[in-house]
Amino acid sequence: MSLRVRLTLLYTSLVGGILLLFGIVIYQLVSINLIDQIDELLARTASSLVEGMRLNTVGELDMELAPDLELATNVYVQLWERSAGLSFASAGISHLDEPLAPLDRLPAEPVYRTTTVGETNLRVLSVPLSLGNRPIGTLQVGASLAIVEATQKTLLTVLVTGTLVSMGLAALAVSLTTYQALASLERATNVALQITRADDLSRRIPYQGPAEDEIGQLIQAFNQTLSRLENLFNTQRRFVADVGHELRTPLTVIKGNINLLRRMGCADEESLGSIESEVDRLTRMIGDVLLLARVESGKLPIDNQLVEMDTLVLEVLGQTRVLAQDRVQMRLGDIDQVLVCGDRDQLKQVILNLVENAIKYTPVGGEVVVDLGKMDDQARITVSDTGPGIPPEDLPHIFERFYRAEKSRTRTTDGKGFGLGLSIAYWIIRQHGGRIDVDSSKDQGATFCVWLPLAEGEGDCQPEA
Ligand code: ADP
Repeated sequence: MSLRVRLTLLYTSLVGGILLLFGIVIYQLVSINLIDQIDELLARTASSLVEGMRLNTVGELDMELAPDLELATNVYVQLWERSAGLSFASAGISHLDEPLAPLDRLPAEPVYRTTTVGETNLRVLSVPLSLGNRPIGTLQVGASLAIVEATQKTLLTVLVTGTLVSMGLAALAVSLTTYQALASLERATNVALQITRADDLSRRIPYQGPAEDEIGQLIQAFNQTLSRLENLFNTQRRFVADVGHELRTPLTVIKGNINLLRRMGCADEESLGSIESEVDRLTRMIGDVLLLARVESGKLPIDNQLVEMDTLVLEVLGQTRVLAQDRVQMRLGDIDQVLVCGDRDQLKQVILNLVENAIKYTPVGGEVVVDLGKMDDQARITVSDTGPGIPPEDLPHIFERFYRAEKSRTRTTDGKGFGLGLSIAYWIIRQHGGRIDVDSSKDQGATFCVWLPLAEGEGDCQPEA
């Protein structure tokens, strides 16, 4: 059974059930009320009749109707005497020689009963009459229940019709609303199936309804998942293509050298050196790829400790001076005493990557400056250079893996750059709760800025869970 049918049935029976219960209560209350009114009329009539009764000279009851008491057309009276039997019957039942309600087993108090005379249902009040302690007869006052029955019948018709009409309307309303809501879901399911079949993650599910309702939110969430999946697949595809591309060059060089060695029939030192350097390059690249995979997935453990960033920066500068030689001037700008929590080796790797890049991309005679300071509750390490800068079209991509600006691809034929250094740096800093910014424009040099949360002391550094 479809969800739509189930919901329609559920809500329709709920509405029906509530109205049925409501109807039963109303029906009962109205019936009790009408009978109460009739009982009151009977009691009033009986008491007026009893007041007007006299005993005649032969000891029989004489009943006079009080002048102000005019019997309603549907009210009947009988007076039964112990000795003489039926001694009075009102107009309309003078032909009746039976009591309106059975006279036997009557209690000593007035009693109401519902009886049937002929085809008419009557409400009858029997009032026992006595002289001293001696019972002398019974006065019976009855009223037809025709009005009550007619009212009950009308009420029943109204209630049943009302309930059925309400159930029908509820069914229609639920069916229409669920149809509208489920039609969007059905459309979403169809598009989702088409996406799966066509393997096309670039498609999105359209939704015309309000974005903030439940279905709108569901479709939005689904579309977001699709975007993320598309991104992941694209990254994955690019990654495989990039790795393949990066592997091809060194492998071609190695193969070429092996062929050369084979042709020459002896080990040529130059070819062997070339093979060795390509193997080293491959090893470095695979190391970087593995490191990136671990740090990206958060699987690279962080040995959390208090790190004196000023000492670390000085260490990096000392190490990289060799690389800069006289080509590029290395300068330490402002330096403050700064403490952060993190893995010392990983943080050093980040600063090293940035400084090495700055040296690598800055032409002879340029300058690389490293600053260290604090801003609010953040440590700020900047590495600026006077190199060619990064073109605006490359800026959004430089933290992507294997991304190298077009110029760098041709420039680093020394085979050092894989386009992984900044990705690794980005992920390490991210895992440390910080961020990296870059500010650069073409021919204006580049400034990389690392932000890390400041630490006060050893107590701030919680070991990794
Ligand atoms: P690579 O190994 O190619 O240096 P990175 O991930 O470290 O890889 O850098 C990605 C790209 O960002 C580089 O190829 C280069 O185009 C650009 N880049 C990084 N640092 C600088 C810099 N200081 N100046 C100019 N371009 C830079």
